[in-house]
Amino acid sequence: MHKYVIALDQGTTSSRAVIFNEEAQVVAMKSYEFEQIYPQPGWVEHDPAAILNTQVDSLREVVRISGIPVEEIAAIGITNQRETTMIWDRATGQPLYNAIVWQCRRTAPIVKRLCDEGYEEHIRKVTGLVPDAYFSGTKLNWLLDKLDLHERAKRGELCFGTVDSFLAWNLVSGHPHVTDATNASRTMLYDIHKNDWDDTLLGALNIPREILPKVVDTSGVVGMLDTSILGRAIPVAALAGDQHAALFGQGCFKPGMMKNTYGTGCFLLMNTGELPVTSKSGMISTIAWRIGGETTYALEGSVFVGGAVIQWLRDEMKLIERASETEMIANSVKDTAGVYLVPSFTGLGAPYWDMYSRGTIVGLTRGAGRAHIVRAALEAIAYQSADLVGSMATDCGRKPRELRVDGGASANQFLMQFQSDILGCDVIRPAVIETTALGAALLAGLAVGVWKDMDEISRVWKMDLSLTPLMGEAQRAKLLRGWHKAVSRSMNWIMEENDPL
Ligand code: ADP
Repeated sequence: MHKYVIALDQGTTSSRAVIFNEEAQVVAMKSYEFEQIYPQPGWVEHDPAAILNTQVDSLREVVRISGIPVEEIAAIGITNQRETTMIWDRATGQPLYNAIVWQCRRTAPIVKRLCDEGYEEHIRKVTGLVPDAYFSGTKLNWLLDKLDLHERAKRGELCFGTVDSFLAWNLVSGHPHVTDATNASRTMLYDIHKNDWDDTLLGALNIPREILPKVVDTSGVVGMLDTSILGRAIPVAALAGDQHAALFGQGCFKPGMMKNTYGTGCFLLMNTGELPVTSKSGMISTIAWRIGGETTYALEGSVFVGGAVIQWLRDEMKLIERASETEMIANSVKDTAGVYLVPSFTGLGAPYWDMYSRGTIVGLTRGAGRAHIVRAALEAIAYQSADLVGSMATDCGRKPRELRVDGGASANQFLMQFQSDILGCDVIRPAVIETTALGAALLAGLAVGVWKDMDEISRVWKMDLSLTPLMGEAQRAKLLRGWHKAVSRSMNWIMEENDPL
């Protein structure tokens, strides 16, 4: 009998289900988009019923189109958009509000209050995070206040959960109220060193323990899929935040191994092993996964404008028609003719942290043209990623040997070669580009014995493309000097946020 594992990938804009075989290859895939709700500028919500229905529909549909008998499905793993916050009634399962999505800025004033009250250092030390409205803690505080639910929460009548938790509650028989350590580490309520909720932050945000889920391993059987869904009880055997699943799906099992996802933004995660590393440049320290009670940590950094700069070339500048054209256009010139493009449209993140920086094109001469600007835009994605890699390398005192890549823009071979050149290390692209789903499937398969251990997973993990640096050290140093000079010109441009000078 064959064995298959299904990943449920609950993302920000769609819910997907992907079936993998024992060779970790994609057999079938189905996804459904759902509505984004914007009640006010800066606010983002999802309808919990839409999340659940699209996820269940994609699961049923992927099994149907694959033709695989349900008896051959060994396990299901869940991976999810992180930080998105929900509460529901413990007795009825009824959600009490829309899901407040990670992007939502409504709790920025609560974060400011926490910082004013002196919690900033505590948050960094205990949770590994930088205080921000992004994370779940202030969203939960907002919900309890807004809906006047503090008393009910104390009486244990309510459940808080991130999307993994909500799906586990609804899909697994017996309604377990659980979350995994990776998702817990994104709440800004969780002590990543002690692996427990932090009473100081629970107190500061007036959140009773009675509303919190039990924190379980990332890989491990949570319970059995409710038989009403596929007609059979299948172990639900993994819960993992999407970036953590992707790090696992990239086979980054050893300290120092890192992956970068080139999407709208870029997400870079580095496995730092058994000890959390405190970053000196504002990188986040997070739980990579917890397996068999053993915690592995990671550093995380993000590029705000990654592939989005290519969308800008297409939609605003009308320099290109399709993202994929950029590869040929960049290759049509031998360099950018000294042009640098810093796409700090919304400010700069790590390692600069300058919200007053704005997008800049420098080094223009009379000969500079469309191809040079397109090339400079692609190079900017690589430079920004290299800045993060450099900071992480400094934080943990080890130089990277390779970077594993995925995401839409990793299809661009010019970009990947330039990334390798500018980092001075190999760039490796896997055969399965669906690394988030793959990670969830591998974590679930590991829990039920489809794959024996991480060594066996490393053996089934296949690469598609491997690039080595072709650029000399002197050239690399020269280009990086130019980039850093361009960044410095972009910095401190506007006087204050929302003020156009
Ligand atoms: P997300 O998951 O954030 O929506 P994807 O992983 O689907 O992102 O990647 C889409 C992004 O990658 C877009 O911003 C797009 O501009 C960029 N992109 C896609 N294909 C290419 C390409 N061949 N070269 C450069 N950028 C690309």
